[in-house]
Amino acid sequence: MTAAFPCPCNSALSYQACCGRYHSGAIAECAPTLMRARYSAYVHHLVDFIRDTSLPAQQSQLDVTAISQWSQDSHWLGLDLLSTSLAPDQRHAHVEFIAHWQDAQGEHQHHERSLFIKVAQQWYFYDPNVPLHAERNAPCPCASGLKFKKCCAAYL
Ligand SMILES: [Zn+2]
Ligand SMILES: [Zn+2]
Repeated sequence: MTAAFPCPCNSALSYQACCGRYHSGAIAECAPTLMRARYSAYVHHLVDFIRDTSLPAQQSQLDVTAISQWSQDSHWLGLDLLSTSLAPDQRHAHVEFIAHWQDAQGEHQHHERSLFIKVAQQWYFYDPNVPLHAERNAPCPCASGLKFKKCCAAYL
């Protein structure tokens, strides 16, 4: 796929003007933008991008091989962003979406409300399949410097 093709995230922009910017190193300004860029990364099998935009405390536990296999075995059909809500602290956001894809079993859609967490000016995806353990009074695993109970615990 060349840069002039429509972006796979359904934004109606070219890949180069949309998710391609973030795949080349630009920092996503907000959670829904990162959601789009992660979807497009699956389309382009950019597993490093998927890993690097997951919450740093979770990255070492991700099954990168499985992510890579899933991205390559699927034919990606599109993304619908339904809603976004930003928490009052401006560092936690929920993005509701439906992702569409097709594999050997047929067409699928996945409807999820994902949590995104901002750490040091950068948004990250919280992977609900990777447990994030902390005592309530311990430092939050997101590295905000706050206690867990005052930070991400409220959103998990
Ligand atoms: Zn895009
Ligand atoms: Zn936190």
